[in-house]
Amino acid sequence: METAPRSELREVQDERLQKTVQNAYENVEFYREVFDEHGLTPDDIESVEDLSKLPFTTKEDFRDHYPTGMFAREMDDVVRIHASSGTTGKPKIVGYTQDDLDVWSKAVARCLVASGLGPDDVVQNAYGYGLFTGGLGLHQGIEELGATVIPIGGGNTQRQVEMLADLGSDAISCTPSYALYLAEVADDMGYDIKDLPLRVVIFGAEPCTEPMREEIEERLGVKGIDIYGLSEIVGPGVSIECEEQNGLHIWEDYFYPEVVDPNTGDPVEEGEEGELVLTTLAKDALPVLRYRTGDLTTLNYDTCECGRTCVRMDNITGRADDLIIVRGVNFYPSEVESVVLEFDEIAPHYRIDIRREDNLDKLEITVELAEDFDGSRSDLTSRIQKRLSNVLSFTPDKLDLVEYGNIARTEVGKVQRVYDHRGQ
Ligand SMILES: [Zn+2]
Repeated sequence: METAPRSELREVQDERLQKTVQNAYENVEFYREVFDEHGLTPDDIESVEDLSKLPFTTKEDFRDHYPTGMFAREMDDVVRIHASSGTTGKPKIVGYTQDDLDVWSKAVARCLVASGLGPDDVVQNAYGYGLFTGGLGLHQGIEELGATVIPIGGGNTQRQVEMLADLGSDAISCTPSYALYLAEVADDMGYDIKDLPLRVVIFGAEPCTEPMREEIEERLGVKGIDIYGLSEIVGPGVSIECEEQNGLHIWEDYFYPEVVDPNTGDPVEEGEEGELVLTTLAKDALPVLRYRTGDLTTLNYDTCECGRTCVRMDNITGRADDLIIVRGVNFYPSEVESVVLEFDEIAPHYRIDIRREDNLDKLEITVELAEDFDGSRSDLTSRIQKRLSNVLSFTPDKLDLVEYGNIARTEVGKVQRVYDHRGQ
């Protein structure tokens, strides 16, 4: 399916979509009501082209039907539960039948192959295990491939480094910020991480800019491969970069992508940026139709250099939700990150604080000096400020340079970089 002619892929998509719609309509009250309200029956959705007749599914729908109201199967048939890490309110609960787990494993196994790994490789899985889909999701895909999994989980960084060295891990899966932290700890422990057999870092769960990827590749002497997914759709494994590193292939026989204008919900022209909307095509316990991911991307349908025909999405550097609005100016944290990574004099760590003082928003950015920095702080401050105001079209009210190691590293889970203190 990865290299099938697109017409053949479309036939598979249409056939699976019809089954998915039937399942959602018959077994999920929420979807039955949606269809009824719009005067539709499952027969009206014959092809993926008919999807636009349906409204979107949103994260609020998951919240409103907490915990398992979106499930199309009874708990008897559900063999595993995961939950998304919601920052506010209740988590989104997701469930899988054994068939669903098999599909997920295959999707992740494909990802690993696309990233350049094979059955002979050893993969150290440093994603957190538990309700988070990252740990077990990667784990089962590594086993499906027939590679060797080291289920080390998140944290315990010194042991991670020892395992990398002692077991000669070929790959590690973790967040991009953790990959950099790993390099620092390896340094402190006296290892030259570049000399280790490690050759691939599969990173996900956090947005990663291109300069951040370059930093990871340089510091660790690896290929940095971006993987994408979300619990509501399946977990990690919806898409991944191939070795060309030119967009993430979406496994379109399992997940159907659309890109829409986040404000109007209308489809954008091919190649234009918009919000990614996904429909599951091969999931029984939790069929999801037109889910608004909140992630901004573009789609490219050209056949990739690697020979895969399935569509590529741009790597996600911003979520619609992450947009920061300060005194009427909009920007994404990734724009700050790209500036931070431009300067050799500072380390690739930063935090953004937004406060409201006297009814006025104040933007404060904190960056960390490189370990060997011995130049003029005021000169560096003004150069960074100048770049920030060019990129953000806005000059931060305060730019703090702190000593190396003073911005908290995240060993487990996603790094928090933005602290919005307004309204608190
Ligand atoms: Zn490719």
